[in-house]
Amino acid sequence: MYEIQTTRLLRKVMKDYFAGFRQADKVAWCTSVGPAELLRSFGFEVYFPENHGALLGATRQAGEYIPATVNLGYSGDICSYLTSDIGAFLHQKSPLQTHYGLEGIPQPDLIVYNTNQCREVQDWFNYYAKAFNCPIIGIFPPRHVEEVTDSEVADVSAQFQAMVPLCEATSGRKFDIDKFREVLRLSKEATYLWKEVLATAKNTPAPLNFFDGTVHMGPIVVLRGTQKAKDYYNALLEELRENVRNGAGAVRQEHSRIFWDGMPICGKLRTLADLFIENHSAVVASTYCNSWVFDAFDEKDPFASSAKAYTEIFINRSEDAKVRMLRQMVDAFRIDGVIFHDAKTCFNNSNTRFGLPLRFQQEFDIPVLVIEGDLCDLRFYSEGQTTTKIETFLEQLESLKSVH
Ligand code: SF4
Repeated sequence: MYEIQTTRLLRKVMKDYFAGFRQADKVAWCTSVGPAELLRSFGFEVYFPENHGALLGATRQAGEYIPATVNLGYSGDICSYLTSDIGAFLHQKSPLQTHYGLEGIPQPDLIVYNTNQCREVQDWFNYYAKAFNCPIIGIFPPRHVEEVTDSEVADVSAQFQAMVPLCEATSGRKFDIDKFREVLRLSKEATYLWKEVLATAKNTPAPLNFFDGTVHMGPIVVLRGTQKAKDYYNALLEELRENVRNGAGAVRQEHSRIFWDGMPICGKLRTLADLFIENHSAVVASTYCNSWVFDAFDEKDPFASSAKAYTEIFINRSEDAKVRMLRQMVDAFRIDGVIFHDAKTCFNNSNTRFGLPLRFQQEFDIPVLVIEGDLCDLRFYSEGQTTTKIETFLEQLESLKSVH
C-alpha cells in the first residue's frame, strides 16, 4: 500500500509544536488565515482554535461536545469547529491532553481574529476573550472581493499596523520591523514549498491526494513563519518528487481525477480516501489545501503584502473570481469532475447554496457532484448515501471518458 513516509516526521513536528506551549512565555491565539507572522515577530507562540476544532472532528469527539455549546444558546447549525471547540472547553477536555500530554488548550495572552474567512470567528474568539479576560483584536477586511484594490490593501494594512501597540503591551517587546520581515520571508518560502508539494499531484499517478493534503497541511497552518515549517515541506517535497520519478502513487491506474471544493469531512478522511482509491479515482486538488498558498507575501513591504495575501484568499472572493480560480485549477490538474461539499455548518466555505456548481458545469462542460456533510458534525453526513452518490458519479465519469 502506498504511504507517504514523511508522515512520521509530521507527527514529530506537530508534537514539538504543541509541546512548545509548555514553556511558552507568551501565547497569542489567531484565526487560521489571520496575521500569524506579525504575532510571531513579537515572540508569541501562536495557537489556532480552528486546528483544535479539526482535531476534535478528526478524532470524532466533536459529537460529544457540541451539545454543551448548544445548551449555552448557540445554534447547532453554526460552525461545528466553533461548537465542538467551545463544548470541549466547557468539558475541560481536549485531544491535546491525550495526544500531546498537555494539561489542556494553551491560555491566551492575546486573541486575534480576521473576518476574511467568516464572521463566526468574531463570536467564537470573543467567547474566549471573556472566558480568559484576555485582550482581543479583530481585523475586518472587505468581503467577497473581485480583485483586491490598492485602497482595500491600505485599509487592511492600517488595521494590521493598529495591532502593534497591543502586541507590544501584551508581549512586553517592542515592534521590530526586521524581525517581521524575517518571519514573513520564512512564511513566504514555506508557502512556496507547500504550493510545490500540492503541484506534485499534477502528475499521474499523483503522489499526494486531497486527504493526505489535509493532514500534511498542519505545519503551513500552525507553523508558518518558522524555519521548522520550511524544513518540513522541503523533506515532504523531496519524497513526493522521488515518488513521481518512481511512478509511485495511491492510484496507479487513474480512471478519473477529481477536484474537491469546500471543507473536508474531518471524521471521514480515511474512509473517503479509501473509497476513491478503490474506485481508481485520484482526488488531486482542492480549494481547501490551496487556502494556505499566499503568493503576495513580500518581506520588502510586510504590512501591505500580508494585508493583500490575507484578503485575496479564495473564501473571501466574489463568485466570478472563485469561478476563474476553480477553472484554472481544473485545467492545471487535468480534472475530470468536481465534487462540491455542502458543509451544513459552514455556508462560508460551501459554494453550493446559490447555484454555482450547476453554472460551472454548464459553462465549462465539466461534470459536478454536490455531496452533503459537515466538517465535524457527523449527524449531517450519511455514509451510505454519500458512498452511492460518489460511486455513481465516478462511474459516469468513466463512461464519459470512454465515449470521448
Ligand atoms: S470558515 Fe467555516 S469552518 Fe472556518 S471558522 Fe468560519 S464557519 Fe467555521
